[in-house]
Amino acid sequence: MLSFWQLFRGQALNLFLKPNCPLCDRTATDTFCKYCHRQLQESQLLDPAQYWQGDLPLFAWGKYEGAVKRSMAKLKYDGHHSIGNSYGEWLAASWQKSPINIPTKLVVIPIPLHPEKLASRGFNQAESIARSFSRATGAKLDLSLQRTRSTVAQFGLSKSARQENVAGAFALVRSSLKPGSTVLLIDDIYTTGATVRSAASVLRSTQIEVCGVAVIATGRDD
Ligand SMILES: [Zn+2]
Repeated sequence: MLSFWQLFRGQALNLFLKPNCPLCDRTATDTFCKYCHRQLQESQLLDPAQYWQGDLPLFAWGKYEGAVKRSMAKLKYDGHHSIGNSYGEWLAASWQKSPINIPTKLVVIPIPLHPEKLASRGFNQAESIARSFSRATGAKLDLSLQRTRSTVAQFGLSKSARQENVAGAFALVRSSLKPGSTVLLIDDIYTTGATVRSAASVLRSTQIEVCGVAVIATGRDD
């Protein structure tokens, strides 16, 4: 058992070693400093369920702008896992507060990266968000959706080129998902939806129900 002093020293060390805010390097209170935290919260959508309709409903925590945009880049390219963790918790809190009611037990599936990209980046930012979302909501995390074909970045491509780029890019590998399971796809950013649509069609072709996609930020402004 740890003595009081060992515990105290551990706590003090934790305090001392707490990383600074990944966005501005000031002292962080949680993942971010209080200034950046406030800025991020300002980009939160008033109604995260405003796009929850149509063939593939979208649930979005916030807008892809300002501090949210910078934090996404920090998560993706500098490997700040704690950002994915915080975002997963914020997304879960919004989801649980929303009027969306999925009657069956939900399975969450992150949009996967191609293995080559995963190897060079070291982790999948969508998985880190989905893991934290699943911990907070009790939804089951499933990683059987995989990217089987390498795709070029969607940025700068036309709508039809985006669809072509991601068509047939996904497959279910050694999946234990039962037909009739209800899945919520999770990604970091939503732009045209071509990627998530392609992923959803693979799942739906095996009788898995995809209720929608939840993302941290959307570039949609309609
Ligand atoms: Zn900061």
